[in-house]
Amino acid sequence: MPRYEYRCRECGATYELRRPMAQSDAPAPCPDGHQDTVKLLSTVAVGGTASAPAAGPGAGGGGGGCCGGGCCG
Ligand SMILES: [Zn+2]
Repeated sequence: MPRYEYRCRECGATYELRRPMAQSDAPAPCPDGHQDTVKLLSTVAVGGTASAPAAGPGAGGGGGGCCGGGCCG
């Protein structure tokens, strides 16, 4: 049974519920009984691929070189 993560907008608590897919959109009151909740992305895979954007080659070179200002000559 898939797990779904919800967040309560009233108290800010996040919690997980296991429920059938057919009920994934059903109201899921928070543990404190609040009704104003939103469904977050399902956390099916644990430890997924965190793809951080790598700095490409040439990164770090500032724009507007020194020679443009005449300080090199
Ligand atoms: Zn709540």
